[in-house]
Amino acid sequence: MSKQGGDPNHERGNDRRQTLASLLGAGLAGATLSAPGRARAEATRMASIPGDELFMRMAIAEAAQADFPFGAVIVRDGNVVAAGRNQGTSTNDPTAHGEMVAIRRFVAARPAGELKGTTLYTSGEPCPMCMGAILWCGIRRVVFAASIEELATKIGQIMLTSRAVADAAPFATISITGGVLSAEALALFSK
Ligand SMILES: [Zn+2]
Repeated sequence: MSKQGGDPNHERGNDRRQTLASLLGAGLAGATLSAPGRARAEATRMASIPGDELFMRMAIAEAAQADFPFGAVIVRDGNVVAAGRNQGTSTNDPTAHGEMVAIRRFVAARPAGELKGTTLYTSGEPCPMCMGAILWCGIRRVVFAASIEELATKIGQIMLTSRAVADAAPFATISITGGVLSAEALALFSK
């Protein structure tokens, strides 16, 4: 199941991973989605799972149409249930980051409690504002393309990683995967 070397501690508590695997309907050989509650000490840059690139391409497609090239999709039960793109200038709202827009669209259509089983894909690592919102919403997994460090070479960033924000929230457990299609996401800044 895992390529992490058969660490028994890692193997336990992977029920969520298996659930996601079944939802995705794909073999999970090579997957290393972290087990919630065990993630804190693990590196942020974890291997992606099957389906991550598919959903990330959707987030990047949103970014390609955004005011600033950032986009996000929220996935539940293997389906995209909300999408957002940065609308910071077109809506006169500097908080309209892709992740925020996606979350607002989700809760406009569904009970907020349903966010708890979701994965959010975003073309750029969530900023502290968005990561705070993600934690308050109980989103279980975040997958990002370009890191804050990489984004800072293109556009101003608050230099606090999503992992640092998550680690400061003892009430929340979240898995974070970074670096999925980061080159494609960064390329949008040169268009
Ligand atoms: Zn943000």
